[in-house]
Amino acid sequence: MSINIAIDGPAGAGKSSIAKAASAKLGYIYVDTGALYRSIALYAMNKNLDNENLIGKLTDIELKLEFIEGSQHVILCGEDVSEKIRTPEVSMEASRISAIPEVRSFLLDLQKKIARENNIIMDGRDIGTVILPNADLKIFLTASPEERAQRRYKELKQAGNDTVTYEGILEDIKQRDYNDMHRETAPLKKADDAVILDTTGMTVEESVNSLLDMVKNLGE
Ligand code: C5P
Repeated sequence: MSINIAIDGPAGAGKSSIAKAASAKLGYIYVDTGALYRSIALYAMNKNLDNENLIGKLTDIELKLEFIEGSQHVILCGEDVSEKIRTPEVSMEASRISAIPEVRSFLLDLQKKIARENNIIMDGRDIGTVILPNADLKIFLTASPEERAQRRYKELKQAGNDTVTYEGILEDIKQRDYNDMHRETAPLKKADDAVILDTTGMTVEESVNSLLDMVKNLGE
């Protein structure tokens, strides 16, 4: 049986940095499910599809995750789009299209299959509640909106994006939190049996250590 760790939480809470570092230490695969929604968003943007047209085109979308030296690559219709999906425009479009129930069910099997076949840490918004309700460990990772915006701002600046502002990112984060928590299908919420980890004021290393402690205590 594979070991499944589910991490959910709002944008910028540190899910990916923490999950990546912890998976490397544990020898698990880190699965970033946001990348799947982002790839569908990119597809819709490139083809200028509204919701109805996107639903009609879902079966044309060929989406694969590949893991190269521990790092996830997302392949959309034969193209590695791992970098292209990291823009604020794609973030916002992903938040929008992720509310479409057909999009969520389209991505369901892919996520469940990876979890069945591998020891994984999977992060997203509905992993503990919908995708892996029987996960061995569920964590709800959070931090204040201001701290999350500050982290995203730094990341985007470091990646060479000069057009972003802190205020703009804070607005986007608040809007995405609202969208993610208020959609009808699989809204972002803590699973009843998830442990809350609030990373406000914590370094990535401290957060990773707390996660690893929880994993150590797993079967005790
Ligand atoms: O995690 P990330 O910020 O990359 O996710 C992009 C968007 O995809 C989120 O704002 C959310 O709307 C959506 N998402 C989701 N369910 C997941 C992962 C991401 O709805 N499991």
